[in-house]
Amino acid sequence: MKKILIGTHNKGKFKEIAYLLSKKYKKISPISLKIKSPKETGKSFFSNSRLKAKFFSRYVDYPVISDDSGLCIKALKNQPGIFSARLAKKHGSFLNAMKFILKKMKGQKNRKATFVCSLSYINNFGKIISAEGKLKGNISSKILGKKGFGYDPIFIPEKYKITFGQMLKSKKIKMDHRFLAFQKLKKKIKI
Ligand code: IMP
Repeated sequence: MKKILIGTHNKGKFKEIAYLLSKKYKKISPISLKIKSPKETGKSFFSNSRLKAKFFSRYVDYPVISDDSGLCIKALKNQPGIFSARLAKKHGSFLNAMKFILKKMKGQKNRKATFVCSLSYINNFGKIISAEGKLKGNISSKILGKKGFGYDPIFIPEKYKITFGQMLKSKKIKMDHRFLAFQKLKKKIKI
């Protein structure tokens, strides 16, 4: 069976990317190989996803797929953006980071936000291909739902009335920013 390393330590992301990939792959986690994550020194989702793919591919002789993603909130000048994971770390948990965001958004009429994902695939010869997916939505006024991961309980996708935290995982997985990036990636390479 062909192997692929899903270059992330985030269990929510791992599950989603594993679901998107073909059944022909044995999906390997860097956790099982005891590989740590690289420092995210890039200034964009694109550069961080490429940096991760290149980093993890140094450890294996099979393809790697990595993502860099985050939540960009219009009224907060597109923050936390690439700092989404770091914001949660700074506040000790995603729950605290979401509380912090909702406090900052109190009374704010413009609640527009976009989930962004850059996916990068690198083969064993070092050829790297990237694609980006974006999903528009709004920030809810409360933390709602226990499904999903990360900022899911405060993000209401456009045309919906519930947060990703309230939505069935099987539904979110087929419409989110990671799914959209993956569809674009599949147009560029056979995966
Ligand atoms: P990074 O790509 O490792 O820098 O982490 C991105 C951050 O954005 C993580 O903290 C994720 O939890 C969050 N994030 C990315 N995609 C999603 C999603 O689909 N739902 C909720 N949070 C997400």
